Amino acid sequence: MDTEEFRIRGKEMVDYICDYMDGLSSRRVTPNVEPGYLRYLLPPQAPQDPEDWDTIMADVDTKIMPGVTHWQHPRFHAYFPSGNSYPSILGDMLSDAIGCIGFSWAASPVCAELETIVLDWFGKAIGLPDEFIASSPGSKGGGVIQSSASECILVSMLAARAQAIKNLKKDYPDMEDSAFLPRLVAYCSQEAHSCVEKAAMICLVKLRILEPDERCSLRGATLREAMEDDVAKGLVPFFVSTTLGSTSCCSFDNLTEIGPVCHRFPAVWLHVDGAYAGNAFICPENKPLMAGIQYADSFNTNPNKWLLVNFDCSTYWVRDRIRLTSALIVDPLYLQHANSDEAIDYRHWGVPLSRRFRALKLWFVIRKYGIEGLQSYIRNHCQLAKSFEVLVKKDSRFEVVNEVKMGLVCFRLRGTDRLNQDLLASINGSGKLHMIPSLVKGRYIIRFCVVAEHANEADIDHAWEVIQEHTNDLLESYTI
Ligand code: PLP
Repeated sequence: MDTEEFRIRGKEMVDYICDYMDGLSSRRVTPNVEPGYLRYLLPPQAPQDPEDWDTIMADVDTKIMPGVTHWQHPRFHAYFPSGNSYPSILGDMLSDAIGCIGFSWAASPVCAELETIVLDWFGKAIGLPDEFIASSPGSKGGGVIQSSASECILVSMLAARAQAIKNLKKDYPDMEDSAFLPRLVAYCSQEAHSCVEKAAMICLVKLRILEPDERCSLRGATLREAMEDDVAKGLVPFFVSTTLGSTSCCSFDNLTEIGPVCHRFPAVWLHVDGAYAGNAFICPENKPLMAGIQYADSFNTNPNKWLLVNFDCSTYWVRDRIRLTSALIVDPLYLQHANSDEAIDYRHWGVPLSRRFRALKLWFVIRKYGIEGLQSYIRNHCQLAKSFEVLVKKDSRFEVVNEVKMGLVCFRLRGTDRLNQDLLASINGSGKLHMIPSLVKGRYIIRFCVVAEHANEADIDHAWEVIQEHTNDLLESYTI
């Protein structure tokens, strides 16, 4: 494809995208296909000769789109939002065109510099302590974009592990690093995302999964008892992962209690995962939910969930960047450069070497919407969740099972888990609405998340009508 053809096809693609976005509501939310459906539609070998663009695009309509789950659909209420907006798409387009691999300042200076500046903007907007802001006087911290919250938690744990081993080695300098692993213990709540467990698996350390209180919030006393218990057994607490806005029910761990507990164990790294809800701290009225953040060593939130930025863009800040990078630095000659003392080299802040120019899309989104526009977006979702909560509470057949503070409502039919499983299967099977289940306090619940950028009251009413229709049919079938 030469430039002239790209000019034409690119414009056609923008039209295709606009038609796709505007026409989403006429599609099923979820595809109606069986596993392996695509094998029957595509040839077993790659084409030997170049193909015509129109033929390829025709296959998009007939073969690819039928297998898509439409996350941007106004009736998609599953998981958490998958960030998306036109400014973000344009940012990614430009980033793809520039096509640089900004692993160090020298590899493409603007990649590193824009990333630091935009992370400072966003960090200040959500109210992170000054220590996390790279440009604050005397700051040793700063922010970076990672691919996912899972990666943020993994690198935090890796850094904490390196620090803990270094401390232990002071007393046993001749021992191998790996010899200390059996003594290290990390902690999280039952409500923490499964990626904490995965990080512990990768790091080869123990993870103690603690019981939260009746509001699904991990409390300081529970953590303190677990840590003291472990210390008495000769183990070494080294890492605590807390959550602000849990995946199952958007609950908030009690950082004001947990923070001081961690500080009693000086080597413990406290991470705060706000993958979804952290974005909402951009609104002043939500900032009380991050009380205690001053105790954190690191914090992450995903604009690619709830701030209109396309995947991947997980923003991550640390209080002390040397504590992070000292666990991750390897420095072959071919990656070194003359400005490494005064410049940030993000290759030392994470697992991959190669990095896309992801700051561009975050910068586009923040500038195009402004902080006010982003606040309105978040507030609209929170308000709509409240409207949905009111509808559920009006129907005595249902109960709401979480405290609705953000855009997530967890609810269930009063009755057995089986009844709720049948209800969700019936709704999802219709392709009219998509929600997912979870377990909260051992009970099966249905999660309804406000997701679409321009979601409105009519969407909420429509969703509730669909849920009621399926409930009526289901309850009727149970009584026959
Ligand atoms: N933490 C929380 C609270 C989440 O809700 C999720 C995913 O929904 C994750 C972590 C994992 O996110 P990622 O897919 O970015 O790794």
